[in-house]
Amino acid sequence: MKIYLLNPPFLDGFVRCGRWQGVTARGGTLDYPKWLAYTTGILEKEGNSVQLRDAIANKYSLTDVIEEIKNFNPDIVIAESNFSSLGNDINVLQEIKTKVNQKIITILTGPPTAVYPEKIIERDCIDVIARFEYDFVIRDFVRACNNHSDLNSVDGIWYNDNRMVVKNKDRQLSTSEELDELPFVSAVYQKHLNIRNYYLSQSLYPEIQIFTGRGCPFMCSFCSWPENLMGRKLRFRSIGSIVAEFQYVVENLPFVKEIFIEDDTFTLQKERVRTFCREMINRKIKITWSCNARADLDFETLKLMKKSGCRLIIVGYESGSDEILKSIKKGITIEQAKQFTVNAKNAGLLVHGDFIIGLPGETHETAQATLNYIKEIEPDIIQVAVATPIPGTAFYDYVKNNGYLTIDDMSESIDENGYQKCIVSYPGFSKDDIEKWVNRILKTDYLNPRYVIIFIRGVFRGGGLDHAKCVVKAGIDFLEYIGKSKAG
Ligand code: SF4
Repeated sequence: MKIYLLNPPFLDGFVRCGRWQGVTARGGTLDYPKWLAYTTGILEKEGNSVQLRDAIANKYSLTDVIEEIKNFNPDIVIAESNFSSLGNDINVLQEIKTKVNQKIITILTGPPTAVYPEKIIERDCIDVIARFEYDFVIRDFVRACNNHSDLNSVDGIWYNDNRMVVKNKDRQLSTSEELDELPFVSAVYQKHLNIRNYYLSQSLYPEIQIFTGRGCPFMCSFCSWPENLMGRKLRFRSIGSIVAEFQYVVENLPFVKEIFIEDDTFTLQKERVRTFCREMINRKIKITWSCNARADLDFETLKLMKKSGCRLIIVGYESGSDEILKSIKKGITIEQAKQFTVNAKNAGLLVHGDFIIGLPGETHETAQATLNYIKEIEPDIIQVAVATPIPGTAFYDYVKNNGYLTIDDMSESIDENGYQKCIVSYPGFSKDDIEKWVNRILKTDYLNPRYVIIFIRGVFRGGGLDHAKCVVKAGIDFLEYIGKSKAG
């Protein structure tokens, strides 16, 4: 079959495939369409003729996309969506049906299909939705089409059959063995995308984003992917497969400066992390890497990570209040996270700290505690976000049920530039308070002369001049955001 996979056109720089809400990132970040890329790889491996188009990175308009689809003449068009872009993405498929060919099979996928399947599948322009871990679901669907099998047997899809909606059961989450069968996503990027279009504010540029495992067993109440996409069951690629992909990047993409491991929590199984690091060292694979980490790693593991090429870890500290950490089920205490930060720095790693203002129970005192916490632990880079309740999460249900959600539709969760807006307001801590605290913390940290010392320290500890370049770029984007922001 001929299949066209699309990251649909929308706002300039819109990150649809980020692990949180779809937004235009303040630091200029542009993620790969990772899930679409994995799907592309697996469909090609099965012998289909596949084209992957990232309309955001390519700055394609809807007209450009329609022209390209007319030329390619696919049997199937697959578009990924996110909550804030859902209306736009459905409209894109509608236009494709209307202006190209009504007979094209349209598939919408991404987190909204996990939460609003009825609302989406009832639209005439959508033939199929592929729910949750959709690369394998779509592979199974295309296999069934190629074999003329009954679509009833394809787990994970809902589809329109002569105006009757058929709701198949969810697909079992993938297994570790299945993850090893996936082609290297880095090779898919190389073939279908321009690697230089993608940028992570914390990573050396150019970078590659890969998964080495999927799923997270933790229950953080605000977190979307385990709920809406990846699931909670842990499954891991073999160390051999991961190291082989690192080797592939070194040999075939020599201009790439860093590999970012996108797993929910790469560091969950310490022994596995250590085995990976030893294998990297033994095989003398020289490339810088970084990952998401939980603040519960020991010094020995952190040191081994550094030795094997790890430069930076992204840590979800979230809040400086233990009460808030408890209420969101983070499963980490402030004391644990402080000790971890000391260890990470002593091991020579850069720390990128993620913080959130506006979680349940937030007050001026807890926001101040978060600011004090940041000043004390001094992460090399910080990201402070307004708390965004994402449909499907316990946090969303909480604010919705208590009347703290200020919008009816997630399209209102971003402004006209795609920047994140605050959409919760509590009786004692308003929407304005949340926005003011976010900006106050960012300004206090980045506009503080001490940041120069942290920055220089980071340059020496981390990626040298390349790290400096990426922090300066993020700084320029941040100042631009501050310039546009009205909150003080
Ligand atoms: S540990 Fe990270 S990925 Fe897992 S639920 Fe919490 S925030 Fe989400």
